[in-house]
Amino acid sequence: MKRSTLIIIFVMGFVFYAFGQNRQMCATDVPDSRWESEFQRLIKRDKLNQEPRASTYTIPVVFHIVHSGEAIGTFPNLDSAQINSQITVLNEDFNGVGLNADTYPANAFVNWAIAQGLPASSLDSKGRVKIGSLDIRFCLALYDTSGNALPEPGIDRIDIHSKAWTNPNTLTDRVRFKKYLDNVIKPQSIWDVTKYLNVWVTDKSRSLHNMGVSSIPPFSTLEGIPVSSTTDSTDGIWCWAKAVGSYPLYPSGYYKSNNIAGRTLTHEIGHYLGLRHIWGDRPCANDYCDDTPTASSANTGNPSYPLNSGSCSSNAPDGEMFMNFMDYTIDPYKYMFTVNQVERMQTALIHSPFRNKLGSHGLCTSTLSNAKLNDNSLPGLYPNPTAGSIILKRVSKYNSVIVSNIMGRIIYKERIAREDEQVIDLSNQPNGTYFISLFGDESNRILMLLKI
Ligand SMILES: [Zn+2]
Repeated sequence: MKRSTLIIIFVMGFVFYAFGQNRQMCATDVPDSRWESEFQRLIKRDKLNQEPRASTYTIPVVFHIVHSGEAIGTFPNLDSAQINSQITVLNEDFNGVGLNADTYPANAFVNWAIAQGLPASSLDSKGRVKIGSLDIRFCLALYDTSGNALPEPGIDRIDIHSKAWTNPNTLTDRVRFKKYLDNVIKPQSIWDVTKYLNVWVTDKSRSLHNMGVSSIPPFSTLEGIPVSSTTDSTDGIWCWAKAVGSYPLYPSGYYKSNNIAGRTLTHEIGHYLGLRHIWGDRPCANDYCDDTPTASSANTGNPSYPLNSGSCSSNAPDGEMFMNFMDYTIDPYKYMFTVNQVERMQTALIHSPFRNKLGSHGLCTSTLSNAKLNDNSLPGLYPNPTAGSIILKRVSKYNSVIVSNIMGRIIYKERIAREDEQVIDLSNQPNGTYFISLFGDESNRILMLLKI
């Protein structure tokens, strides 16, 4: 091999290494072993006792939108439509019907599941590792902590000047940023953590590569000793304002290219409810879920299935579960939790003192019933992939449809006639990925289309 080729390979290797280091999207702390062993004790006890669960969990959410005097709708003072689109994403993702869940490969992890001897409860009718559903509803809080109706449901706008806060976008490293969040911003603006999921939305420095961070659910041991550092003045989630909401549902918002489908908050709420990264935060480490294959490290981009089979001793022949929300793949291409991950989240909701009363204070209502989320009349798209025209089916409950390309340009916008089918002709459009966004009175929905 020529010396120049070697140099190029070395330089490229360094670039990829540096890029990999920078791609740490999530700044959530890795829980310690004391926390995990208490969590395991509770999971086992619930299984033994068949702990009854609420029929549907409800989580009232408040978004503290931190800005420096920008008008509503000007970054980072996001408008309510961008926030609403995030709630739609959460309600789909945690109930197993999010964007691209219908692209789960027909043979996903079937052979691995057999080799592992996974129980039937973790499998779907095709023998695949099942896409889990938590049966949960996220809603925008209608009332503040004093019981006053909020002018914009689920939104608390905070001008940094009114609090004499430092602009978060001037905090250039992760340690300083997290410290300022935990020591200043959160304690001075948090709402009762037993009643609300607090989400802070701010701008950030370009040099800070994290998109989100969450606290982990606190537990206390039988002796009453707390096993996490989460407190009632720091509990909650931070997200960068350009990673909140869904571009396909609300193209007029502010987004960053890889974070356009609201999955940063889905991932962070996974941590908030006790989930760990799918690779266990060390090469081939444990995420304490039997139905997620071990993974050598975080995955990024848009991989193809199967990925990295044999990268860890026990993940052959089907490789790593890069489509899991607890990986780092880009937004549209992760779309599932597993049954064991759902069990961990249920345990956190039942036992964590900051989680187990959420939804019991009548703080929000939503027109979106769970029955509607889980019904079988979800809209469909045929054929997909397509070479030209597509037919949208079961769309009569929606009012309008927008088709946009991956660059964010709207290429088609139409009202939906009160019929069950709508034909869209894309034969003049270049090949690639398109988002089909459906808007209705009660719910919105995104589908993804491939033109080949
Ligand atoms: Zn994470």
